[in-house]
Amino acid sequence: MPQELRHFIGGKKVSGTNGRFGDVYNPSTGLVASRAPLASRPEVEAAIADAAAAFPAWAAASPLARARVMFKFKALLEKHADEIASLISSEHGKVHADAKGSLIRGNEVVEFACGIPHLLKGEFSTGVSAGVDMYSMRQPLGVVAGITPFNFPAMVPLWMSAVALACGNTFILKPSEKDPSCPLRMAELFLEAGGPPGVLNVVLGDKEAVDVLLTDPRVQAVSFVGSTPIARYVYSTASAHGKRVQSMGGAKNHMIVMPDADLDQAADALMGAAYGSAGERCMAISVAVAVGDETADKLIALLKERLKGLKVGLPGDKDSDMGPLVTGAHRAKVIEYIEAGVKEGAKLVVDGRGVKVPGHEKGFFLGGCLFDGVTATMRIYKEEIFGPVLCVVRAKDFEEALRLPNEHEFGNGVSIFTRDGDAAREFSSRVQAGMVGVNVPIPVPLAFYSFGGWKNSAFGDANQHGMDGVRFYTRTKTVTSRWPAGIRKGAQFTMPTHG
Ligand code: NAD
Repeated sequence: MPQELRHFIGGKKVSGTNGRFGDVYNPSTGLVASRAPLASRPEVEAAIADAAAAFPAWAAASPLARARVMFKFKALLEKHADEIASLISSEHGKVHADAKGSLIRGNEVVEFACGIPHLLKGEFSTGVSAGVDMYSMRQPLGVVAGITPFNFPAMVPLWMSAVALACGNTFILKPSEKDPSCPLRMAELFLEAGGPPGVLNVVLGDKEAVDVLLTDPRVQAVSFVGSTPIARYVYSTASAHGKRVQSMGGAKNHMIVMPDADLDQAADALMGAAYGSAGERCMAISVAVAVGDETADKLIALLKERLKGLKVGLPGDKDSDMGPLVTGAHRAKVIEYIEAGVKEGAKLVVDGRGVKVPGHEKGFFLGGCLFDGVTATMRIYKEEIFGPVLCVVRAKDFEEALRLPNEHEFGNGVSIFTRDGDAAREFSSRVQAGMVGVNVPIPVPLAFYSFGGWKNSAFGDANQHGMDGVRFYTRTKTVTSRWPAGIRKGAQFTMPTHG
């Protein structure tokens, strides 16, 4: 009988009450490992009430006091890193070292949030007029919500919650129903670190729970990361209900390989960026644009050779480069794209569909796939596949290569491999994407910068973490004060001006 998971609300594990559950799979075996309760309105409202009750005291705690909780939280995440990585691997399927790496990247946002006393400092101007000083302060918003995708169950919740909590907000996390055990464990550790009950809550659920968070007037802001159709829906619904929204969507990240690039280095970079985490990364490279046929032929040959050595295996096996996909349904969707690519006339140079892991034939494994001759009109080019499938597009020159990401509906990450400084500089300046790598395949900004794409990869004005995160999770208040009071006598009916 699969284990029944529970929400984490008000510092306690709370069982689902409405009888609705979602299956959580072990993707290596293909079997249901646990059942996650899917919250409906009363359960989400109870969590919002707990978060609202916890807000005044948490907001009133000094930034130093909140920073000290974050320091302890960071230490606990480090102490339990292997345990958390195993939870991620067991439900998501990514290999242990990759899972641990994603936790470390998330924990760097906690580290950033430890600096909150400094980050919350306002501005001060003395003597802006006779006896008048002016200063600004950043104050928390109240109850805020985060809705997160399956592919980074530690990192993405930490992008949002670490900054929101350090700023003095209380947080309701609605993680993906596909791999909820990691965020549940992290919430327990936040409590152990001294985070008061109700400050960080995890509500498990689906659209029904999300809709309550998007519309309840007590929720002040919503952060979302997931696929583009849902990102758009979250953005429009929550903003129509008067909330601040940052909403990140899907991607189709291109890597341009110039003829002068070190092709061995580019091929190694593509292997990690296309097949790492089985391609289930929003910053995965899914399109390689080879400039010139000679570059394309050499690149394909190098990738083919490397793909022979790509080890698909159990996530806990140290030799595995790539584990299974998250669910059987997702694997079926990726296979459907591979079939569509073949039908549309792309050349399937390496076909990973036959790959099996002995003893785990029911697991959701799929080998690395490589397409050559992909064109901009094909579905495998236009749509996000989110699996271990790399499409090679041939471009005749730099301008044609640049046009491809620029005309694509998504604009998350992009990269160029070249030894030519002019090309790299020109590319960085003209490319229409939010995060650019030069000889770096997955240019995910560090915690003290902000993460966010352009075009249909992100909706809203603020990116995740960094100073954008601090601005998103606080309101600015500007105070104008005159001391000593009463320096000016008599009513004034005109607009106050200086001088
Ligand atoms: P998803 O959009 O299916 O789900 C994301 C979240 O939305 C989950 O919590 C889910 O429960 C909820 N949700 C799903 N359907 C909903 C609906 N109809 N109404 C309201 N809420 C709903 O995404 P996923 O499959 O979990 O994650 C993969 C996607 O996330 C990919 O498209 C990937 O590119 C994207 N992603 C983007 C970034 C980024 O920063 N741009 C980062 C990671 C993942």
